[in-house]
Amino acid sequence: MKLYPLFADLSRRAVLVVGGGPVAERKVAALLGAQAQVTVNAPTLTPQLRQWVASGRVAHRGDAFQESWLDRVWLVVAATSDTELNRLIATFAELRRIFVNVVDDATLSSFHVPAVIDRAPLTIAISSGGEAPMLARLLRERLETLLDHSLGGLTALAARLRKRIRVRYPDMAARRRFYESLFAGRVAALLRQGQPEAARLAAEQALAEPSVALAGSVVLVGAGPGDPGLLTLRALRALNEADVILHDRLVSAEVLELARRDAERIEVGKQAGNHHTTQDGIHALLLQHARAGRRVVRLKGGDPFVFGRGGEELEFLRDHHIPYEVVPGITAALACAAYAGVPLTHRDHAQSVRFVTAHCQSSRDSLDWAALAQERQTLAVYMGVAELTGLQAQLIAHGRAPSTPFALIENGSRPEQRVITGTLANLPERAAVHAVRSPALLILGEVASLATSLAWFGQPPLGATMRDIGAITPARRTVVSTSANDDGVLAAIHRA
Ligand code: SAH
Repeated sequence: MKLYPLFADLSRRAVLVVGGGPVAERKVAALLGAQAQVTVNAPTLTPQLRQWVASGRVAHRGDAFQESWLDRVWLVVAATSDTELNRLIATFAELRRIFVNVVDDATLSSFHVPAVIDRAPLTIAISSGGEAPMLARLLRERLETLLDHSLGGLTALAARLRKRIRVRYPDMAARRRFYESLFAGRVAALLRQGQPEAARLAAEQALAEPSVALAGSVVLVGAGPGDPGLLTLRALRALNEADVILHDRLVSAEVLELARRDAERIEVGKQAGNHHTTQDGIHALLLQHARAGRRVVRLKGGDPFVFGRGGEELEFLRDHHIPYEVVPGITAALACAAYAGVPLTHRDHAQSVRFVTAHCQSSRDSLDWAALAQERQTLAVYMGVAELTGLQAQLIAHGRAPSTPFALIENGSRPEQRVITGTLANLPERAAVHAVRSPALLILGEVASLATSLAWFGQPPLGATMRDIGAITPARRTVVSTSANDDGVLAAIHRA
């Protein structure tokens, strides 16, 4: 069920609650919190309800429910244990076009009561559309722990200053930054320390200061390999605060989805052989937006400092006196290794790991092949899909055994991830057979032999041999038998 979220002003509006037990009591309590004029209808009431009636906060009707009462109310809550009565109330409410909530019956209800985090005047409401109220409640508990109670005081303070803030900062981006400093800075800290008066003074002071031209800044953020769960909290916060996001093509849609809704998104993607925006063009955009006072997020796949030209961009920003920060990301080598079950180092197999790129002739020529061909080390090769034949030839020529295992990981950490395994001897052929495409990362070295037995994410590796199958747990075996149908594995399993 997809619901339309709505916050209703019920102050001084009549609401009827039918039922007098503990559930009705909870509903009444929430309604009183919203200053509704509540009437309870039930022959008997809980002690708390009786007390509210006695003190005049709640009206009471002890006689049988009458349809005509609904003519005077804005909302009705059916909280009786009599399902027939609940159903009747729902029908009558529907006829009169007033909203009804039938406790524990999502289908009869035309409004649901969400799980609420109350930091009045700030309210956070969570609904599962009536499908999984328990999950909504668990989520509420989590958020309760994340959100300090001083948030309510902060919201109230912001409300008091709102008009003046608007006058002082007519520009949206600047205003937003002022609010951010209010939320993140000294004012919030003072409220957390239980000093509301000092907090108010600090906020006034911040506002009274002659408005310094708010300089823009750039945050260079690593977006990780694709799975949004691999973003860092700092990356997420930067995305939440961005005015402009300049992102690479490699950055996944799921990650961009997490950014502030009204942040401007500009793709400056570069693809081998197809440069959408030149590096100079990217520099110019960074400068233009930062100088306009915006908070710019430069979002790159993986880590910005690993084959990401992040260094060049920082040098440029430094030369133009634009303040910057860097948020690291999970680089493809780490993510692909983890999601393919290939430990990059292993006491039995590899004592070192090298991150290499081999995307063009000149980058290949400048590599120290003798060093790269050494045993018991792992190579993580970026941007190498098109160059596997050259890579293979050089490594073998410099002494790497043709039997060295590899794992080629395409779309690492994404739902469509594929892992192709084999040996250096058949590397280009294996990649061709499976039509491997960018983005893909090659892990070459003794550790790659673990890809089959340690795989845990997505489809099993393509290229398992009979010997490997024995290492796969029974639970995985069925999966292998249906999808790893290359190399005659399927036939082998059927024979076994
Ligand atoms: N800064 C990035 C690398 C950019 S170079 C990082 O730290 O990961 C682009 C190369 O990274 C691709 O050609 C590919 O080799 C690798 N890559 C990036 N994301 C990948 C992914 N999800 N799966 C496999 N390889 C990936």
